[in-house]
Amino acid sequence: MHFAVLLALFSVAAAEVAGPCDEADCALPTCACSSTATPGGLAVASIPHFVVFSFDDGVTVTNIPFYRELQKRTNPNGCGIEMTFFVSHENSDYTLVNELYRNGHEIAVHSVTHKSDVGEYWRKLNQSQWLAEIEQQREMLNTYGKIPVEKIKGFRAPFLEVGGDSMFGALKEAGFDYDCSWPSLQYTPWFRQPDGSYKGALWPYTLDYASIQDQTVGVKPTESFPGLWVSPMTDLQDNRGFECSMLDACQSSPEGELETSSEAVFDLLKRNFRSHYNTRTPFGIYTHHSWFYNETRKDGLRQFLDYLKAFPHVYVVSVRQLLDWVRSPVPLSQLGTMSSFQCGQTLADNCPDKKNCQYNAPLPISNSEIYMKICNSNCPPNYPYLDNVDGSKPYS
Ligand SMILES: [Zn+2]
Repeated sequence: MHFAVLLALFSVAAAEVAGPCDEADCALPTCACSSTATPGGLAVASIPHFVVFSFDDGVTVTNIPFYRELQKRTNPNGCGIEMTFFVSHENSDYTLVNELYRNGHEIAVHSVTHKSDVGEYWRKLNQSQWLAEIEQQREMLNTYGKIPVEKIKGFRAPFLEVGGDSMFGALKEAGFDYDCSWPSLQYTPWFRQPDGSYKGALWPYTLDYASIQDQTVGVKPTESFPGLWVSPMTDLQDNRGFECSMLDACQSSPEGELETSSEAVFDLLKRNFRSHYNTRTPFGIYTHHSWFYNETRKDGLRQFLDYLKAFPHVYVVSVRQLLDWVRSPVPLSQLGTMSSFQCGQTLADNCPDKKNCQYNAPLPISNSEIYMKICNSNCPPNYPYLDNVDGSKPYS
C-alpha cells in the first residue's frame, strides 16, 4: 500500500466523533466541558468578573488613535487593560500591529482574505483552505509585523461564519489555542426558554467532547479536537429585545438612537453587563472600530469603561487572559499570582525599519492600488496575499 493511502486511512481513523462530556474525564487545565458552572467550582462571589474586549479587521492609521486612547485605561490591579485584535490582512499597517503587540495587547488571526462572499467562499472551504487562511495570516503577522508566531494563538472567522470540523480541524492542525467566533443565543443571561427559565452564559470550554452550545451562525463541529478552546460569544440583547453577537450589530428603538445618544450606547452596554453581574460569566465587547465613527458612540463606550471602574473585581481583558484564568482559576485575591495579570512592560522596539510599500494593479483584490506598511526596509516584489505570503509571485 502506498504511503499516501496509509496516511489517508490514518487521518480518517484519527477523526473521532465527540461524545458527551463527563466532568470526571475532562479536567482543567487542559479540558473543560461546555458549561455555565463557575470554573474550578469556585464561589461566584470570590472570582474576578471579566469584560473581554476585542476589535476586528485591519489595524490602520485611522483606527490606531482610538486604540491608543483606550489602552491608557487601567484595571483594578493598576495594570493597563489588554485587548485582543483579530487582524485581517488587507489595509493592515503591520507597523501599527507591531506597536499594539509591544504595548501588551493580544494579536490574533482573522484570515488573510476576509472575502465578503460568505455563501460561495467561507461556507465551501475545506480544511486545507481554512488552514491556508489561518496559517498564512499568522505568517504575515510574523513576517511583516514581527509578532512572534508562538504569541499568535487565537482566531475569529470572518462574519463569525464558524466552519465546523474543517475550520476547527485547521485550527488544531495549525497549533492554535482557541476560537472566538461562535455566538450563542440560547446560552445568554437574557434569552427566555419556553418554560420561563434562562440558561445563562457559557464559560470557555474545550472541544474534547461535544459542545452543548447552540449554533446560530455557521456549522457546529462534530469531531473531537482535544485541547482546542472555544471562547463563546454570548449574544447581547439590544433595546428592541433582539440579539446581536457583536456590539456593532445591535440596533435600537427609536431607530438611530445609538448614533445620536451616548447615553443609549452606555445603557446598552451597562444593561448587558449587569445581566452577567450575578454569575460573573464573561461579558464581551466584541466590535469594529468603524462603529465608533462618531464621538457620540466613543463617548458611550468611555462612559461604560468609566462606570466599570467602580467595581474592584471587574477586569477588562483579552481572550488570552480570560483563557489563562479559566485554565487555572483563582479567587480575585490571588489574581496577582498569575503571570497573565502582572503589569506588562512595553517591549523593546523590534520594528525600527519601516517601509510603506505601494502596489498597483494587477492585484488579487479589486483595488487599483494598495499600500502595505511593514517592519522591514525592503518591500516584497508583489503584494503579499493568500498563497503568496512572500510576494514572490507576480499577478496577471
Ligand atoms: Zn471582520
